[in-house]
Amino acid sequence: MPRRAAPMPGRQDPETAQGLGEFELIERYFSACGKRNDVLLGVGDDCALLRAPPDADLAVTVDTLVEGVHFSPSADPASLGHKALAVNLSDLAAMGAEPAWAVLALTLPQVNAHWLRGFSRGFSVLAARYGVQLIGGDTTRGPLSVTVQATGFVPAGEALQRSGARPGDLLYVTGTLGDAGLALRFSRGLNPDIQHPEVLQQRLEWPEPRVSVGMGLRGTASAAVDLSDGLLADLGHVLAASHVGARVHVASLPLGSEVRRYVAETGDWGIALAAGDDYELCVAVPAHLQSRVEDLGRKLGCCLTQVGLVERQPGLRCVAADGREILGLPSGYQHFASDG
Ligand SMILES: [Mg+2]
Repeated sequence: MPRRAAPMPGRQDPETAQGLGEFELIERYFSACGKRNDVLLGVGDDCALLRAPPDADLAVTVDTLVEGVHFSPSADPASLGHKALAVNLSDLAAMGAEPAWAVLALTLPQVNAHWLRGFSRGFSVLAARYGVQLIGGDTTRGPLSVTVQATGFVPAGEALQRSGARPGDLLYVTGTLGDAGLALRFSRGLNPDIQHPEVLQQRLEWPEPRVSVGMGLRGTASAAVDLSDGLLADLGHVLAASHVGARVHVASLPLGSEVRRYVAETGDWGIALAAGDDYELCVAVPAHLQSRVEDLGRKLGCCLTQVGLVERQPGLRCVAADGREILGLPSGYQHFASDG
């Protein structure tokens, strides 16, 4: 579908005076985005032409970030470029897929060379790290929003899915939870006691997708999901798809020092369970494969923490150290909820 956006007019920027069209924009700012042998034709024609490997299933995902909803107007364009791709790679990681291709749709209020350079740098550095090639794009003028679609490969039949958890499986999460959520609260002036806001801000703005862990869990995890909306919400999706329930021990949740102190002071477990933007993985693993998970964590230098157990009884129960169930926890970020 050949739909070329009209050149986007700008005022101050000398590069916009040249009237860059969409392909020129994409080529100028994203041409350093890697070259893969399976891309027969990349940016510059009506479609990209791709050759998927034989015996691979394709994992395809898309995500949109909107100014004022997912990031603030003052967001660093480099971190935005990174995050727009990272959230998609996190979805691929949750399926155990190896990232390959990305498509980018940018809606920009104006062409701003400084912004585009920063954005493309953040995007391209992460793309290069995971061997991702940008194969096409679209640009439109309007309120700032960024959509990235990513495709990855997984050996046929080996994708991790949400529906495979079984009673008795152990639940693991990667990394630490609640850092990004606490960064958001800090930036809104709600928690002035943070000692190292820059560490939390890094976690919010530069999430690192758990690609190697996801790929390494093929054949071991029975189910997986990435944590975009918080553990309660995202694990809830796994439990619903698998027709099971689970028990999570909050004392086992992996917390960084800032979040740990915040929870100790406030008793607010919601920051670790429901604040969202963690981009860690939550996986279910049959108990007899426990040592494989722990070996993988050691091999990849990634902290994988057992946080609970899949149970036959439906529902998600969060249990305190004294064994009592914690009630009244928020359910997580919901895009269309009135309090979302
Ligand atoms: Mg996801």
